[in-house]
Amino acid sequence: MQFGDVTLHLISDGKYWEDGGGLFGLVPKALWERVAEPDERNRLCFELRSLLIETPEQHILVDTGYGDKLTDNERSFISLSGERRLLGSLEELGISPLDVDLVINTHLHADDCGGNTRYDESGDLVLTFPGATYCVQRLELADAMFPNERTRATYRRENFQPLEEAGQLRILSGDSRLTEEIRVVATPGHTRAHQCVVIESGGHTAIFLGDVASWPIHMERLSWVPAYDVEPLISIETKRNLARWAIENQVLLVFEHHPEIQAGYLHSTERPDRFRLEPVEIGR
Ligand SMILES: [Zn+2]
Repeated sequence: MQFGDVTLHLISDGKYWEDGGGLFGLVPKALWERVAEPDERNRLCFELRSLLIETPEQHILVDTGYGDKLTDNERSFISLSGERRLLGSLEELGISPLDVDLVINTHLHADDCGGNTRYDESGDLVLTFPGATYCVQRLELADAMFPNERTRATYRRENFQPLEEAGQLRILSGDSRLTEEIRVVATPGHTRAHQCVVIESGGHTAIFLGDVASWPIHMERLSWVPAYDVEPLISIETKRNLARWAIENQVLLVFEHHPEIQAGYLHSTERPDRFRLEPVEIGR
């Protein structure tokens, strides 16, 4: 999709399956299963969608999926699949890992930044994108470095610690402009320092939502908040503000984890806490 001087590509690190209760938190299953039918183990299918932004000067990658460091057990538990995964997806666009200039992590959960690093042939932990600067929010990094009992399982040091050791970590504090066309905005709730990526070029605006709204239904219904969110009431306020801004400015919303719906435009309804998404296909 062309956006003024900027090209947006959606790429994939594969699909995985996870318990539906996590995605819908307090929403009764009798309600959410009307939106998504779970498998026999109560699991739903998730996409690991990343955004590749080509500006005239740079290749910018937003989020990096699960990556290839999971054990066989972990992989089979979530039925992680995908023929070419993230690096194969990039290769199909003619982009090698060395071509990526900037990696932006919306946050440091294992399914969003696992592809930051990889094990090389000799088993050493190395950066997947050796020429890239990795942009992470300071408070997110702090929460990831010192997790608690609830967040420990998803914050894995091997996904972010090597960035600093390599001197390729750029620590951001809140809203920050990264290029003429790209800025990040603080969108707390899912984690305390989650950030979304805003692309503005040629009179168009798009936002990569990360886990502010993993699926469109989370944007359509403000009260539907995943069990994963550490600050659920703040998630609702973040979504309310984003929804208003997106409708006023006709912003294209890009979803990281829905298996089919990639993106869309939000419209208001007669209820102030509910919205309707008009899906849009971006393609490759
Ligand atoms: Zn997350």
